[in-house]
Amino acid sequence: MGIYTFDPSYQYALQLDKEDELASFRDEFYVKEGTIYLDGNSLGLLSKRAEASLLQILDSWKQFGIDGWTKGEHPWFYLSERLGDLIAPLIGAEANEVVVSGSTTVNLHQLVSTFYEPEGTRTKILADELTFPTDIYALQSQVKLKGYDPDEHLVQVKSRDGRTLNEEDIISAMTENIALIVLPSVLYRSGQILDMKRLTEEAHKRGILIGFDLCHSIGSIPHQFTEWDVDFAFWCNYKYLNGGPGSVAGLYVNKKHFHRTPGLTGWFSSNKDKQFDMEHTLTPADDAGAYQMGTPHLLSLAPLIGSLEIFKEAGLDRLRQKSLSMTQYMMDLIAHELKDMDFTIGNPLEDDRRTGHIYLEHQEAARICKALKENNVIPDFRAPNGIRLAPIALYNTFEEVWNTVQILKKIMVEEQYKKFENTRDVVA
Ligand SMILES: *Cc1c(COP(=O)(O)O)cnc(C)c1O
Repeated sequence: MGIYTFDPSYQYALQLDKEDELASFRDEFYVKEGTIYLDGNSLGLLSKRAEASLLQILDSWKQFGIDGWTKGEHPWFYLSERLGDLIAPLIGAEANEVVVSGSTTVNLHQLVSTFYEPEGTRTKILADELTFPTDIYALQSQVKLKGYDPDEHLVQVKSRDGRTLNEEDIISAMTENIALIVLPSVLYRSGQILDMKRLTEEAHKRGILIGFDLCHSIGSIPHQFTEWDVDFAFWCNYKYLNGGPGSVAGLYVNKKHFHRTPGLTGWFSSNKDKQFDMEHTLTPADDAGAYQMGTPHLLSLAPLIGSLEIFKEAGLDRLRQKSLSMTQYMMDLIAHELKDMDFTIGNPLEDDRRTGHIYLEHQEAARICKALKENNVIPDFRAPNGIRLAPIALYNTFEEVWNTVQILKKIMVEEQYKKFENTRDVVA
């Protein structure tokens, strides 16, 4: 891509698409004709390769029955580990530190039940007040299971502006009674990227373990977990990684912790050669594989095989560069076209602080989202007043970004949003 200088013309959008070396990946996806899909940060679109790999797993069931566990192109018994190998480069980890298993929430429970070891006066978990609710619900129950009161033992760092967190505030909250820290890599509303390297370093200086929820960063930005020495992480695979609705999730455990026994074990925690000895004494796998519990959900794993192939070919660094260009372009167009319409850009502006979506705030956000949908633009609404717009590097175009801002302008000028109630739908 040439050097980017903002130009509001439609011609310029077309030129950016022409110069885009990743443009051909759009053809890999089922993009609905006439619709601009900007919600790939909530549910990534289906690719033809993900569809093919799902059919491949169905076919091995058809062909082999029970022997599908060890036969066919992708033997089921080893698939969770193999997919972990493919995800590891996306977070800068080693292959055996990553496994695909469970769901985000289940993996959070698994990891916290392993790494939260309250002792003496070090009994609290540190989180934040802007994180995704499931993380807080899970942490509250983990605190309760250890016999403590979450009101006192789950500490939530406050935000100064209601959108972002300040690393200084998080570090100040790393006091002597904190046993464990669990934070998002990226805040799901504002898209702010936390400085995981710095936070990990500061936590370790104080003898505190730290893990991250990567739901909004995996497949969107690079991570260097080996270098940063993060203790553990977990994420879903259905957002940027396009693994499909309810796709099996992922987790990372730093190899320095491989001697630990997971908090929640099952027979899939076993060393693979021992598993079918059927003994009542568990011999856990000596890597992240030990953090699995039961039989993997093969049909919800299968699409990831094809999807991760695409990531390997496209390259995360190139995807990140394109994503930064698309979001910068969108912000520039918004500033140029939607002046004096009471919009506020709620995401951080610096490249190293923002992820793959724009967080546009407006008093009427809920009904502006409904008007966008009526115009075949798919955003999502996040209470209380945010519109998230995610141009995805693998399948969205600069032309779509340009069109979206024009449609948004028309909705505002014609007051189309007034036809709708300013409340969210059941699923927003
Ligand atoms: C999407 C998301 C989740 C979802 O958790 P599930 O267990 O997959 O339902 C959790 N945390 C964050 C930060 C998310 O963005």
